[in-house]
Amino acid sequence: MTKVGFIGLGNMGMPMAQNLLKAAYEVTGFDLNVDATERLAASGGSTANSIADACKTAEVVITMLPAGEQVREVYLGAGGALATVEPGTLLIDSSTIDVVTAREMAQAARDKALAMVDAPVSGGVAGAETASLTFMVGGDDAAFERARPVLEAMGKTIVHAGGPGNGQAAKICNNMILGASMIVVSEAFLLAEKLGLDAQKLFDISSKSSGQCWSMTSYCPVPGLVPTSPANRDYKAGFTAAMMLKDLKLAQAAARATHATTPLGAGAAAVYERFIESGDSSVDFSGIIRYLRGD
Ligand code: NAD
Repeated sequence: MTKVGFIGLGNMGMPMAQNLLKAAYEVTGFDLNVDATERLAASGGSTANSIADACKTAEVVITMLPAGEQVREVYLGAGGALATVEPGTLLIDSSTIDVVTAREMAQAARDKALAMVDAPVSGGVAGAETASLTFMVGGDDAAFERARPVLEAMGKTIVHAGGPGNGQAAKICNNMILGASMIVVSEAFLLAEKLGLDAQKLFDISSKSSGQCWSMTSYCPVPGLVPTSPANRDYKAGFTAAMMLKDLKLAQAAARATHATTPLGAGAAAVYERFIESGDSSVDFSGIIRYLRGD
């Protein structure tokens, strides 16, 4: 049985680790929140009381942490993953973080002759629970091939996006599309309302026309049109507005660093920032329609 050290057992990490257990991996988990490690133990895993403890006998270390700051701390800190893993351990960071940090972590791993991939995910908590996540993987070919079977226990679609950091690049580009498209779909339904056009009629037409997109057909911000949409549950997240803003800010930082022109991405980040300032950070990101309506 392959031994996995899993660090970060939050909304995403816990179901991912539980799916590894179901696929007969031996999982030792660590989280700053002791309740989380105990819940993993109740699912058949082992608990670690430090990062080093989770890493020292692992053949694979997986991290699922909030942001780049925590990833740096867990890999580079005293008693961190890079200082404690055995030679030959594979490192997989599935957190969504900035491309620069992802590439620095990959270089730090290479300096110790360790294989590492960045493997952020799409699919949310539901995808994590049903082992149907999409993994966007950055790293060399050999590291990708080693990571693939582990990722297949947690996801359905595993794409090699290129070298180190390219998984994170794919993630922030995808979420820039998602943030901007959610805003414009919301704007279109609000304009239709003002024009006396029924929301169902606009949906029937646009979902089969050139305006069709995921934000409309899988995650429609108007209640009652798409059964799976958070709009039907008073915009209970799902994927929070705060997480969307985090990803849009990562995209803007990357755009500034590379001199890419992204006016709609910048606009989407500004709109989500104002939405969150209005007090709605834990609501689903599709709740942006309420802000645009002035609710
Ligand atoms: P979360 O806040 O629920 O979980 C993060 C966990 O990391 C927490 O349990 C926290 O205690 C733990 N943690 C923080 N610092 C730590 C440290 N130094 N050592 C050990 N544990 C530590 O977040 P989440 O929703 O599980 O998201 C994790 C990552 O996945 C984020 O980068 C997020 O952007 C990304 N993501 C989330 C979703 C989603 O729908 N929630 C979807 C796609 C990607």
